[in-house]
Amino acid sequence: MSDFYAVIGRPIAHSKSPQIHLDFAKSAGQEIRYEKIEGESGRFAEQVDEFRTQGLRGLNITAPFKLDAFAYATELSDAARLAGAVNCLTFKSDGTVRGDNFDGVGLVRDITHNLKVALEGKKILMLGAGGAARGALLPILAEKPATFAIVNRTLAHAEALCDAVDGQIDVGNYGTLDRQPYDVILNATSCSLTGVLPPVSSDAFSAPVLVYELAYGKGLTPFLALAGQSGARAQADGVGMLVEQAAEAFALWRGVRPETRKVIDALAVPLS
Ligand code: NDP
Repeated sequence: MSDFYAVIGRPIAHSKSPQIHLDFAKSAGQEIRYEKIEGESGRFAEQVDEFRTQGLRGLNITAPFKLDAFAYATELSDAARLAGAVNCLTFKSDGTVRGDNFDGVGLVRDITHNLKVALEGKKILMLGAGGAARGALLPILAEKPATFAIVNRTLAHAEALCDAVDGQIDVGNYGTLDRQPYDVILNATSCSLTGVLPPVSSDAFSAPVLVYELAYGKGLTPFLALAGQSGARAQADGVGMLVEQAAEAFALWRGVRPETRKVIDALAVPLS
């Protein structure tokens, strides 16, 4: 019988994870079973326990269950501990449950490997201080940027991120740190999910090397449109991040790092 994996979220119908993992398995010459699980509020642990009795080997977690998955894990990677959120659970044969957070490493791999933009020595600005921003902190800092600034609507949330990495980043509200040019600007707010432009100053966009929208499947968001007017050399949405975080989970579970280029191309929507 094929090894059994799944993704849980609410809603889950839109999830691309089954397609991504089944494509990875096919290209690696492996057979797996991968299902979508519609999560029920307040029943995360019970549901996961139930699927584990059916042989579930690993689980990807999407909104709104990343904190429940964090609580469920019995051992955590550094990135998961810092993020306070888990997007990948691995059920080991000795009963331990490993919790990882691959969102940040997926983001950095998409930027440095797929888009071929080095973050080392760059001035980076990230908008937003939610779960995705928190997950991105350590992987971005590991690239040794020249400066790393975060602006957020609620300053206290950005300050908490700064404390989590012992002050290795600069934080402020909109209209403060974003009034100077940056090389790389990342939108880690949820604004683009509802077609809203985050209140970032246009002064940040003086011919940046890369403007990156973490949301995916939304086409030309107001944020990317603003970037287009600014003469950004490269623009991207988060589809590559999505596929790369899945590739990390697949590599952990299956022992092979899958080829991601074709999978990204198959899921990409035009940014114009
Ligand atoms: P969270 O809900 O954890 O955080 C949302 C962030 O957006 C907060 O910083 C919030 O600010 C800010 N925000 C929301 N509305 C506004 C507004 N009107 N003006 C200014 N700031 C606002 O979301 P996530 O971190 O989980 O997700 C963020 C983005 O990343 C989403 O677009 C999501 O789709 C994307 N994502 C992409 C992934 C991928 O694989 N490509 C994986 C995970 C996420 P405040 O603190 O003030 O509330």
